[in-house]
Amino acid sequence: MPVPQDSNPTPSNSNRRGADGNLLWWLLMLLLLFNLGILPLVRPRTTEVMYSDFLRQVEQGEVAKVLIADDEIRYSLKPTAQDSPPADGKDSAGEAAPGLDYVTLPPPNDSTLIPLLEAKGVEYGGVRVPQGGWGGALGWLLLPLLFFALWGFLLSRGGAGPAALTVGKSKARIYSEGSTGVNFSDVAGVDEAKEELQEIIDFLKKPGKYVQIGAKIPKGVLLVGPPGTGKTLLARAVAGEANVPFYSISGSEFVELFVGVGAARVRDLFDQAKHNAPCIVFIDELDALGKARGNANLGLGRNDEQEQTLNQLLTEMDGFEANSGVLILAATNRPEVLDPALLRPGRFDRQVLVDRPDKLGRQAILEVHTRRVKLASDVDLASLAARTSGFTGADLANLVNEAALLAARQEKNIVSMAEFGAAFERVIAGLEKKSRVLNQLEKTIIAHHEVGHAIVGSMMPGGHRVEKISIIPRGISALGYTLQLPEEDRFLMVEDELRGRMATLLAGRSAEELIFGKVSTGASDDLQKATDLAERAVTLYGMSPQIGPVVIDKSPQTNFLEGWQSPRRVVGPEVTETVDREVKRLLEEAHQVDLNILSLNQALLKDAAQHLLQQEVLEGEALQNYLQRVQIPPQLAAWLESGDGVEVPAPTER
Ligand code: ADP
Ligand code: MG
Ligand code: ZN
Repeated sequence: MPVPQDSNPTPSNSNRRGADGNLLWWLLMLLLLFNLGILPLVRPRTTEVMYSDFLRQVEQGEVAKVLIADDEIRYSLKPTAQDSPPADGKDSAGEAAPGLDYVTLPPPNDSTLIPLLEAKGVEYGGVRVPQGGWGGALGWLLLPLLFFALWGFLLSRGGAGPAALTVGKSKARIYSEGSTGVNFSDVAGVDEAKEELQEIIDFLKKPGKYVQIGAKIPKGVLLVGPPGTGKTLLARAVAGEANVPFYSISGSEFVELFVGVGAARVRDLFDQAKHNAPCIVFIDELDALGKARGNANLGLGRNDEQEQTLNQLLTEMDGFEANSGVLILAATNRPEVLDPALLRPGRFDRQVLVDRPDKLGRQAILEVHTRRVKLASDVDLASLAARTSGFTGADLANLVNEAALLAARQEKNIVSMAEFGAAFERVIAGLEKKSRVLNQLEKTIIAHHEVGHAIVGSMMPGGHRVEKISIIPRGISALGYTLQLPEEDRFLMVEDELRGRMATLLAGRSAEELIFGKVSTGASDDLQKATDLAERAVTLYGMSPQIGPVVIDKSPQTNFLEGWQSPRRVVGPEVTETVDREVKRLLEEAHQVDLNILSLNQALLKDAAQHLLQQEVLEGEALQNYLQRVQIPPQLAAWLESGDGVEVPAPTER
């Protein structure tokens, strides 16, 4: 049974509003009504007339006096025309008109009116038209009155400024008994998390079973995982499954400009929850209010408000009994910034990891999202799942939707694998930008650059298969791209794969260098990524023999709101120098290996680039034909294993 939104079930709540507050509200409403409804009645009544009718009246000599304002014309009629019994005619026209009872709106720029009035001998002038007698004055009087009333009302509520309007009223939305419309069958690929939550649902349904044995159910459960993995969805599914009231609020909604507002809101939320137990309180994006207190912040990010709100939350969580039937569910994708006090037993003592789905999980999620999509018989969700390593549930939902949109755009009534392929590229590389026209030289450079990536990438360890090369610009900045897909999910990167990755990243630039003897700006993104990787290898993974198994990098959690944090441990100048030297060495070696590989395969590189220039896209069999002919230099294995530099034969031909 759905509970109306924002219902206020606790009597204590309405009491707190105060009787005088209500009175003022009524006063306000009355004033408003008066202004809207009564004032227009008080104003002198005028009759609106079409301009053409007005002109006709002038022509026929019925008009006595005309006052022309900027946007309207007010006029009075001669008594003869007004009253049916004819009066003295001429004489009365000179007398004061009995009020300008008629108004008409002239079309813009009518320059014929004045001559007409002159001709007809009508009295006219440019007087400012009074805006409705004493009503106008009353309006002026009311305005400050209204303002003061509002101000008094706000002050009477015990707060400062407009935020006081919402003080103490939590914005929690209430869902109940499955009114979220989501249940566990809509969430896939996170079976462990579902299992954990099942226990909690079970408790909310049959608390007796647990109480009798003396077990305490956790008060707080924290869902932790990367963005888009379905944490919010999971929480809503819990509400759908548990059939209990479900209060949902986002952490960022707690954080207000005015100190004390967030804390009052927390108090109110828990008040409501305790009166409606058993129930679930869901705080989404907990990190927004639960950031660790009092760390160095240079006075920017943290403030009293946040601190008070967090303190209130901690107090409230301690303030109710473990088995009182209120369960607090929270979600965050940044558990590392949470205040440790939140995570201790008795608060969010249970943490449920909602991780990126594995291959089977992805397939299950695709199945959930394609339930309502008409699929062609060639759609193979298992192979799609295999290709989408690293995708979250949100990415997969997006992929299915993009594919359906593409099919609809092409006036098809079922979605086939071709649309999924196109949608996949769209999701990972961005929209095709055919409008970004490149000149021939640019195209030639990009073609060689991309084929360079493909040739080197195809021989590196790690099971990344080159699937497609394209020189059609995509997304925000990509001018061309090489699609390399992992054949399985990977969780670790071994040293040789890391080297292979760096070489692959630098291969585009190396190909430009080898073929054209100079490099272009197109490789900056590759360089950035390769440098980052080399830095991490040296400072974080301990992969440099010169540095040894020491971490130089501090966790790179820099956030401009939290102030600047040193990304590296404080180290001596020699170590810094060594790090720089090692990073450079790793990259330089990878670069040399690239030149080595590419000069060995130079003919192939040029062939494939020509093909690419003609077709714009190289994929499938044609691509594999090229890649099968790639020659692997004998020293490559040795370099991958030990990182020993490879002799590079000087490129002979250009
Ligand atoms: P989070 O809160 O973890 O950032 P959401 O729960 O908001 O992610 O997920 C966004 C959307 O992605 C959901 O509405 C749903 O359509 C889809 N989605 C994410 N994870 C899953 C999943 N495990 N199963 C099915 N759909 C999912
Ligand atoms: Mg979320
Ligand atoms: Zn590149």
